[in-house]
Amino acid sequence: MVGTSKIGCAFPKVATGFIVGKIMGHLSLVTLAAMVMVATVARAEPLTVHSDFEGASVKVVSIDQTAREIAFTPGGDAARGWPCWWYFRIDGVAPGEPVTLRLRGSTAVTDKPNAKPLAAVWAMPSEATWSADGVTWLRSSPGMKVEDAMVYELRPSTSSIFVAWGPPCTPRTATEWVREWAARSPHAKAAELCRSREGRAVPMLHVMEGDRPREKRLGVWVQARQHAWESGSSWVARGFGDWLTGDSAEAAWLRQHAEIYLVPIMDVDNTATGNGGKDTQPHDHNRDWSDSPHWNETVAAMGKVKELIQQGRMDLFLDLHNPAPGDPTFFYILDQDSQPSSALILRDRFIELAYGRISKIKPLIPMSNRPKVTGPNYHPLWKNISANWVAMNGNPATVSVCLETIWNYKNCTTDGYRAVGMNLAAASQDFLRLR
Ligand SMILES: [Zn+2]
Repeated sequence: MVGTSKIGCAFPKVATGFIVGKIMGHLSLVTLAAMVMVATVARAEPLTVHSDFEGASVKVVSIDQTAREIAFTPGGDAARGWPCWWYFRIDGVAPGEPVTLRLRGSTAVTDKPNAKPLAAVWAMPSEATWSADGVTWLRSSPGMKVEDAMVYELRPSTSSIFVAWGPPCTPRTATEWVREWAARSPHAKAAELCRSREGRAVPMLHVMEGDRPREKRLGVWVQARQHAWESGSSWVARGFGDWLTGDSAEAAWLRQHAEIYLVPIMDVDNTATGNGGKDTQPHDHNRDWSDSPHWNETVAAMGKVKELIQQGRMDLFLDLHNPAPGDPTFFYILDQDSQPSSALILRDRFIELAYGRISKIKPLIPMSNRPKVTGPNYHPLWKNISANWVAMNGNPATVSVCLETIWNYKNCTTDGYRAVGMNLAAASQDFLRLR
């Protein structure tokens, strides 16, 4: 009898409204779900992957249209830095269907003798970052490690989604931010640090409020993304700029007493082309602070910083990064034998103030109050690391540090990173006001 049948092939032939109602009453929920899934997959468009836009990077290994699964690796050129950044768009999603991402590490290597692929963990955040509109970025449910792959499942409600290692910020995004900040505050100006070697604009924010002469202003330099893959550091810069151009009395004090430069992306070329940047040839931006810098951004930044030093007001230099996969947020500092002792007490006070604020962010952004030290034992080019160069060549009271903000953690969203930047800016004001 029809009423007792489940999902038999004869069902459509005999179904009338009345009979369907009777049948539905007997169908289990599981069967219904299976019917919906079959219908959904039957209707689904093929999944397609796209990377023809700024900042994108992917190497597609395979697309299983039945399993609705995309196997891929990051797509960067190893000669242009660690290939751990990935960012692409998927079209053809049937809204509501699960889509699986199966990520493996890049096998790309440089042409250096005995070059090995980068360890895959650098490319594998605990959750994927994704967006339906390229504006609002979310973290997925936790990925699962399956053999050498990280497997993420997404269930978007749109037919097209962007997926990425972390929240993207491309040169176009940075240009928009700088314009937004300048529109928000009459004391903030959208400027350009320089043009890159590949001819791209390097957006910069320049902030000063009131009539105080420049030579009586504290000098503050904040830069992010000397390593292109570390997109979270640009979002920390975003938080810094949001705080700085905001309405608080503290922000107004900083604008009135300081001259502040903020560069959300230093390595615009590798960011725009979806390359990792770190250890790019001949060396990366954060090994370039020398007597003969290679990159236009370094030349321009060093020029401005040298001016501040010559005027005796290079007060606070902040270089923003993301660290290794297992690290919390922490500061990198120069070893104490390599910089004026007069700066050490100030530096430690600044770090304490920043830790006091950032470690209280809710939801939690884990932070260590123990800085890591860079010096002669850290890297052969340790003197050419930006924060080290500024610490060694700055004024007696220069505080110059690198902030590494955790990325491999569920709260490392755009809001989480922005909170770090806002608290870093507030700590900068705490520190400079009391100095
Ligand atoms: Zn870095």
